[in-house]
Amino acid sequence: MKITIDGPVASGKTAVGRALARRIPARFLDTGMMYRAVTWASLQQKIDINNNADLAKLTKSLSIEVVLEDGEQVLKVDGTDITDELRDSDIESNVSKISQVGAVRHELVDQQRAIASTGDIVMVGRDIGTVVIPDADLKIYLDASIQIRAKRRHDEMRRKRQRIDLEKLVEEIKTRDNMDSNREDSPLVSAEDAVIINTDRLRIDQVVNLILESIQKS
Ligand code: C5P
Repeated sequence: MKITIDGPVASGKTAVGRALARRIPARFLDTGMMYRAVTWASLQQKIDINNNADLAKLTKSLSIEVVLEDGEQVLKVDGTDITDELRDSDIESNVSKISQVGAVRHELVDQQRAIASTGDIVMVGRDIGTVVIPDADLKIYLDASIQIRAKRRHDEMRRKRQRIDLEKLVEEIKTRDNMDSNREDSPLVSAEDAVIINTDRLRIDQVVNLILESIQKS
């Protein structure tokens, strides 16, 4: 069973995908972490993010591993655990630019397909139903209004004691969504055969239940 969940920033993909994978049970992969890992490495190595050839070379050279430790997804780049750094503001503000580079995407998509080919999985991202696993058993597209998404992300950041103005967050989310939706290579769009769920008024467990119902029907 392969299930894809795509959607814009903070639409609930990761929380829903993780909970769904536990219920099925299946493996879970948040592909956004992989794009964030390439962004982290490019900032570390001071690679010019406008130099597509260098970004392509970097992506090929990295060993990106997503492993489960104590039930949590841990991301390692060349053996170093960088999970806690993946949501840093410099990664947040550069990741959508780096994700536009075709060669970066092709390398990561190959790795994601290899992971998907080895068994049941819930995979979340932007192009999973359209490009990575177009023959998935079930495709979900999660959406929610910008105000609700920003509020959820704001609450999550406050719980981690990170401070950001709500209006600034709205603008950041809009910028990232715009870049993700308007890029040439595999933009964020709902797959034609996706089940679209608006999560504005739904809790995570309610969304998971709706998806489980769709699995039974499919
Ligand atoms: O899902 P998350 O917000 O962590 O993703 C970070 C960024 O990675 C997205 O804004 C997008 O630019 C990129 N991404 C992508 N394709 C995916 C997953 C993430 O382009 N499958």
